[in-house]
Amino acid sequence: MTTKKKPVSKPKQAKSKVRKKPVANSKKVAPKKTNKKTSTNKKANPKKIVSNPSDFESFAKTFTPYRPNKTEKYMNKSQQKHFISILNSWKQALESEQEKTEQLIQQDQSNFPDSLDRAAKEEEFMLELRKRERERKLILKIDLSLKDIEDDLYGYCETCGIEIGIKRLEARPTATQCIDCKTVDEIKEKQQFG
Ligand SMILES: [Zn+2]
Repeated sequence: MTTKKKPVSKPKQAKSKVRKKPVANSKKVAPKKTNKKTSTNKKANPKKIVSNPSDFESFAKTFTPYRPNKTEKYMNKSQQKHFISILNSWKQALESEQEKTEQLIQQDQSNFPDSLDRAAKEEEFMLELRKRERERKLILKIDLSLKDIEDDLYGYCETCGIEIGIKRLEARPTATQCIDCKTVDEIKEKQQFG
């Protein structure tokens, strides 16, 4: 055989932090028109960037709140649609975030540097693992909420059956309890473990 065996050891890579900078949205340079503005041309609508989708508060800014009219029924089809779309786009954001987290974890596993900054690296690694866990749990919750919508259970407190309310759901789309039951449960928990 004439095949040469490749050297096993990989060339030492220059430790490169592949932390991607958020790509700045290339702003479309709209030619300035001198004529009157049309109503379809909405300006001052900057693309909202979600910095951290595991924190719903930052994500909540990316959608328009639902405005029910006075006669419509709670959790009718169009309200359900509204929440399906929120839940789905939140899930998507989380999933792509999760991919990034996964990549960081892989990198850390394959590329443990010299012992000097090992401690720091290990801590970073732990944080990434925790982040992945949090993202995973959130995605599971979102899936449960989507299932609830399918079953017409979404939006009602699982403890007392009352309407959770659009506002609360928009602040917390995976909520399964009304604010009162949630509060009571939290107090009970504190008494038990605190
Ligand atoms: Zn309740």
